[in-house]
Amino acid sequence: MKYVSTRGTAPILSFEDAMLTGLARDGGLYVPETIPVMSTQDMRALSGSSYEEIAFRVMRPFVGDTFTDEEFKGCITRAYAGFSHTTRAPLVQLGPNHFLMELFHGPTLAFKDFAMQLIGQMFEVALKRSGKRVTIVGATSGDTGSAAIEAFRGLDAVDVFILYPHGRVSEVQRRQMTTPIESNVHAIAMDGDFDDCQARIKDMFNDFEFRDGVKLAGVNSINWARVLAQVVYYFSTAVSLGAPDRKFSFTVPTGNFGDIFAGFIAKQMGLPIDRLVIATNQNDILHRCMQSAAYTKTGVKPSISPSMDIEVSSNFERALFWAHDKDGAAIKGLMDDLSQGDGFTISENAMGALKAHYDSGMVDEATTSAMITRALAETGEVLCPHSAIGVAVAENHITSTPMVTLATAHPAKFPDAVEAATGERPALPQRMADLFEREERVTRAPNDLAALQTLIRERIST
Ligand SMILES: *Cc1c(COP(=O)(O)O)cnc(C)c1O
Repeated sequence: MKYVSTRGTAPILSFEDAMLTGLARDGGLYVPETIPVMSTQDMRALSGSSYEEIAFRVMRPFVGDTFTDEEFKGCITRAYAGFSHTTRAPLVQLGPNHFLMELFHGPTLAFKDFAMQLIGQMFEVALKRSGKRVTIVGATSGDTGSAAIEAFRGLDAVDVFILYPHGRVSEVQRRQMTTPIESNVHAIAMDGDFDDCQARIKDMFNDFEFRDGVKLAGVNSINWARVLAQVVYYFSTAVSLGAPDRKFSFTVPTGNFGDIFAGFIAKQMGLPIDRLVIATNQNDILHRCMQSAAYTKTGVKPSISPSMDIEVSSNFERALFWAHDKDGAAIKGLMDDLSQGDGFTISENAMGALKAHYDSGMVDEATTSAMITRALAETGEVLCPHSAIGVAVAENHITSTPMVTLATAHPAKFPDAVEAATGERPALPQRMADLFEREERVTRAPNDLAALQTLIRERIST
């Protein structure tokens, strides 16, 4: 399987190189040249299989010859062994035709663990074989960073640097990033918001001398391997509910568009998905764009669902690539408009292509909180604020087609918002109950590329 850039001019890569590279050298994102289709028969055969078996069947065609079957199975088994639920992504029924997919049973309590744990295993196998080392850098609104640190802590061939916006992540998120004791872990609290952190990471990748000098690797949600790992739970869930002989819609709390784009890939592979519903918080650039065709930045407003406080939704570029019939030059034009100004406008044709798959909805702060309260009263389910946004939007999109909403984080990761809505502070799972006693280790840094590059050069162990 070959991987091409959404902007059309970067080298074509194998799965291994696309995974180890992250961002393409033309500033674009890697996508598979073609999407393999799974036959109805093969999909039926997944019924009753373990999450790990389904993961192997779904992802195998994308991996090419990067791993042998045995290596890849080993990666998958080790990746999910640390999850606290045997089915990995259990389902809860919230109402008639409405299901909740719980994606928060991994080691850092958010869905990011599904991809990051697997990436950690795949990096380790690939780097051991080649004898190379890499410097992993990532920007986080909170959950990607903790998941990445958990996945890479203590690995020999990797230094991991995570930039998070100072003062804008929850205390649990921050502590998950600042308390690991391994010397290859570097948490950096940067001045600015998430979009600033993400912009500095992109700058590092666009500085080829730095990029090649420290052997930069990216594990943000733009990394294709992360999208791929997230395709699996669309399959495992749909199959457990009767696919391919039944159709489903999914509602996804959305920020950087990685999770919902994985649903689009599942659909391209043949999974019978009707609607993919984008659920946003008050940072509703994607919702406004779906309604008006104008993707226009207005400034990020901090919310009680901080993992979705984003205006530059990186993976939306992949959706746009498909909506523009894979025209890399067209995508480059839109992205240049975005980086030089406030945004871009999508053509009528491309909007039609997006609307063929995606719907959208926005939930304000008060409604998010009210949803947490009501979900507890009506179903006993304690939702994190992000998941509550998903459930609230989903309720407006339920038809005769069953709806599955993705619950993206554990409520204990956002205890203040949950306590405000329910009167009760959700407890951390036993295995991380001492998180608040562990010592923190973090470096403050300005929103300045040169300063960040100096810091990274000084810290790496090569
Ligand atoms: C990352 C995250 C999201 C947004 O997912 P994207 O793939 O960036 O759209 C939503 N909820 C939680 C809890 C997250 O950590």
